[in-house]
Amino acid sequence: MPDQILRAMTTDGWVKAVAMTSREIVERARTIHNTTATATAALGRALTACSMLGNMQKIENGSVTLQFKGGGPLGTVLAVSDAEGNVRGYVQNPRISLLEKYAGKLDVGAAVGTDGLLTVIRDLQMKEPYVGSVELVSGEIGDDVTAYLVQSEQCPSACGLGVLVDVDHSVKVAGGFILQLLPGAPEALIDRLEAGIAAAGSVTAMLEAGLSLQELLRKVTGGMELEFFEPTEVSYRCYCTRERVEATLVSLGREELQQIVEEGKDIQVECQFCDTEYKFSPPEIRGILAQL
Ligand SMILES: [Zn+2]
Repeated sequence: MPDQILRAMTTDGWVKAVAMTSREIVERARTIHNTTATATAALGRALTACSMLGNMQKIENGSVTLQFKGGGPLGTVLAVSDAEGNVRGYVQNPRISLLEKYAGKLDVGAAVGTDGLLTVIRDLQMKEPYVGSVELVSGEIGDDVTAYLVQSEQCPSACGLGVLVDVDHSVKVAGGFILQLLPGAPEALIDRLEAGIAAAGSVTAMLEAGLSLQELLRKVTGGMELEFFEPTEVSYRCYCTRERVEATLVSLGREELQQIVEEGKDIQVECQFCDTEYKFSPPEIRGILAQL
């Protein structure tokens, strides 16, 4: 089943809610990057949060980038979403060994680390993108996205994310939700939402139990009356082109390119976000050198 994003609004108008399923996206990321279980969960949560934020931003041709640099064994975790919520991403060290809090519970926080920042880049189709950052709270991704929205964007929010990796290392279920209070919302609503989120349990448990996105949102909002919008289908999507890959070749520098030409062999350059390979022949590289 294709992944979906479902947006909703409480009928009292105070709470904006979004939920998504992201199994296909996270499974695609796993096969592209050949991630081990803990890396699959970390990258999957980042992709899920990024997709929802991209969809919520609603700026035509805009984008949202999340970059986690926590000093943990995973290195940098990066995700980029387009305006609909189609995402791509990578993790610097996709093959880290298994980290668990206890048997069967992946320790994403330890893999990402907490010594560093979450940086968010919002391309709002203005001259300059909006860039904000926050110190990582737990490295668990969901908590960090919540902290970013609350501290950097002053928007009272809650973000829950989950990726369940199966025994064969494929992705069993994945998804998440974001709730946001609109300015002026009564204080009592915060308690009601917190109680709803606590009672709902984990995102993976809800998805594994077969809950629909509507049911999931009803649970986390503590049974508030919701109005749903049309769901959007989203997928793992890369926008790489030969020109963009050429730009990364240029960044190698004159010397290294010269060396490639002298070796006289074609080189393969893989896109950092997907599994597309671009082949460059020595004459083509000479052409790039001539432009430098
Ligand atoms: Zn690509």
